Amino acid sequence: MTSHDTHASRLRALVEFTTGSFDTSFPSPFGSSIHEAATGRLVAMAYDTVMRDCDVTNHAEVSSIRLANRALGRLSLRGHVLYSTCEPCPMCMSACIWAELDGVVFGASTMEDADAYWPQASTATPDELLLRARFEPKAFLVPHVERGLCQDLFRRCDEVRRAKGLDLPPRR
Ligand SMILES: [Zn+2]
Repeated sequence: MTSHDTHASRLRALVEFTTGSFDTSFPSPFGSSIHEAATGRLVAMAYDTVMRDCDVTNHAEVSSIRLANRALGRLSLRGHVLYSTCEPCPMCMSACIWAELDGVVFGASTMEDADAYWPQASTATPDELLLRARFEPKAFLVPHVERGLCQDLFRRCDEVRRAKGLDLPPRR
């Protein structure tokens, strides 16, 4: 069982990686990574490229799952844990279930934090979707690890957008 300190340390590394998007024309606070559970090995890391690629499915979690599938050469990500700077939306949580990930660890909250940043399309929660998952054991969820740091990513992303003269998300 991975310790809370280890989860927190991986989330902090992910936050650092995600701020890399601030140096691009499409700054985003959403990042995701996948680690092998047994060894801790980092298998994939991605930030949201929805705007850059004009693709609504390019959320960070979906992109990190795609990278992990390709890196490992298989569809099942059993034995791996996904990290996200924000609670996965229904599309991403469904992808986590389809990928058979062991667990999901996240920082900010979708409805309390991300919805204020960008209007969310659905209120379905990861817990609700996991209840309907058919593989056993069901994935574990560890919410709100380094939440303050992840909330700060949203704020810093706004600052960067303003500095670059980019549009702010619809509710800002
Ligand atoms: Zn998503």
